[in-house]
Amino acid sequence: MAGEAPRAIDRDDLVLVTGAGGFIGGHLVASLLADGHRRVRAVDVKPFEDWYQLAPAAENLRLDLRLREACAGAAREARRVYNLAADMGGMGYIETHRAECMLSVLINTHMLLAAREARVERYFYASSACVYAADKQRDADVTALREEDAYPAMPEDGYGWEKLFSERMCRHFREDYGLVTRVARFHNVYGEYGTYDGGREKAPAAICRKVAAAALGGPPEIEIWGDGEQTRSFMYVADCLYGTKAITASGIEDPINLGSDELVTINELVSMVEEIAGVTLKRSFLSDAPQGVRGRNSDNGRIRRELGWAPSIPLYEGMERTYRWIHDQLAGTGERRRAFVT
Ligand code: NAD
Repeated sequence: MAGEAPRAIDRDDLVLVTGAGGFIGGHLVASLLADGHRRVRAVDVKPFEDWYQLAPAAENLRLDLRLREACAGAAREARRVYNLAADMGGMGYIETHRAECMLSVLINTHMLLAAREARVERYFYASSACVYAADKQRDADVTALREEDAYPAMPEDGYGWEKLFSERMCRHFREDYGLVTRVARFHNVYGEYGTYDGGREKAPAAICRKVAAAALGGPPEIEIWGDGEQTRSFMYVADCLYGTKAITASGIEDPINLGSDELVTINELVSMVEEIAGVTLKRSFLSDAPQGVRGRNSDNGRIRRELGWAPSIPLYEGMERTYRWIHDQLAGTGERRRAFVT
């Protein structure tokens, strides 16, 4: 591992997770508790009934972290911070809500200031593959993105610019103020207990929802954004949690990719979910729907070198679990959105 040796924090140290009512934050709180952490503070702006996971064993707070005083309260006594709170969604959301996505800079600025004042031991920031320059992603036959491809900067408009700016702020808080910051660039995370409808959902959840609706008796049809030949990689949430904790504990100072490198086209992803569900659907292609970049994959050379590990849960395996959960939500037979974890 690069630089200083990884250091476990004490199980009684207070760990703050922001965005804890969301998809990845909810899983992270559950996994920290499962790891034996006794003091986990979970913060989100959403009402508790809308949190995907709510753990009675955590200290759950509803705060708007765009506000500086809310960040100060959230960070009080915290030793470690995992900052996952952001206004975000899939392509359909971020291409139409650029200003709202950029306002997450208030969360990231105030959380960094609060973490510095609270003298936290370590600060993790969830960045995104959307920081990468668009001209490196024009071909479906992609060359996987390496960390240095983020510069010269031309990220996804709105959301990507905010992520790149906040990454940079983490770097300068480290260099100028000595706050230990760690940054991972998440590439398309999917799994259970996340958004699958309402407009903020990402491709894997949207495809599962559409296929499940057909499997439950709806019309045997599916609408695909674009021609379906755009390529992506998708990381199952369990890999994301392991990587997030490992990167935070490591000596890796610069932003690092955290994503799967199993590349698929959207058409292949649809075929995979059809196979899982046991249905075949008639496809229609929406050429004017948001599609994002043409092709994107994660180059995992650096994470392999630094951690001796990279995300490896097969897409089929993760999609099976995700599909079952979304199917059961639609069927009304699954565990409620608000799963209690201890
Ligand atoms: P999510 O939308 O499910 O969770 C984000 C949470 O942040 C939401 O619950 C939201 O209510 C909360 N939030 C927003 N504004 C807030 C505020 N002002 N105060 C407090 N909480 C606020 O998203 P997610 O998929 O769990 O993503 C978590 C992080 O990972 C985000 O920073 C996101 O940008 C980043 N990321 C996610 C992906 C992905 O594929 N899911 C990819 C790249 C980066």
